Amino acid sequence: MKKELIFLGPPASGKGTQTARLSEYLGFPHIDTGSLLRAAIKNATPEGLEAKSYIDKGALVPVEIVAAIIKNRLAQDDCKNGYILDGFPRSVEQADILEGINAEIDTEPADFKAIYFDVNMDLLMERIIYRRSCAACSTIYNLKTLPPKHEGACDCGGELIQRKDDNEETAKVRFETYFNETAPLTDYYKAKGVLKVLDANGEIEDIWNRLLQVVG
Ligand code: AMP
Repeated sequence: MKKELIFLGPPASGKGTQTARLSEYLGFPHIDTGSLLRAAIKNATPEGLEAKSYIDKGALVPVEIVAAIIKNRLAQDDCKNGYILDGFPRSVEQADILEGINAEIDTEPADFKAIYFDVNMDLLMERIIYRRSCAACSTIYNLKTLPPKHEGACDCGGELIQRKDDNEETAKVRFETYFNETAPLTDYYKAKGVLKVLDANGEIEDIWNRLLQVVG
């Protein structure tokens, strides 16, 4: 049965690290709207140009833009056995849109799960400020808790970069946006009987093992 796995949780809750690994493990594409939007900005596409001001201030990008990106991506052939969706949906409106897209694309019932990263919020601002990622391979580091082997460079040799929205001021707005628009999705999916709560505190390896149990 096709596996449709979507991931919920506040900014820097560790979704990116775990879902990238899960994608390799299960062989399903990892579709991360934040990265797709950042790529659109880098390539100066019309969507990217419109999305940039929203991302820079920590707000949600207009729903039409992300919905079109997701619809195109989920219709691609590599999603036919399953997908891992990280960063979409981010509002009840987007969740309804996703349901419509799945209904259009799926020819048979699918195994749909919404996995919520339940994490201690106190740690997250520090994680954001010390987060760096590799411009070449996208590996995520934390300068304090998970540094690269050599200062300033990824273990693959690529350049380490800091996201423009990973600063305290923008992160505060991102947390507000999360609480107002995205957090209600846990109740939304609970009511549908598809919510799985993952204890996302502790060591990366322990979270990974718990994630494998939840994914089933
Ligand atoms: P992320 O990489 O998931 O932290 O996302 C970075 C930024 O991209 C967010 O703060 C939003 O501005 C934008 N973004 C990512 N996913 C979505 C989405 N599903 N809907 C609207 N905006 C999004």
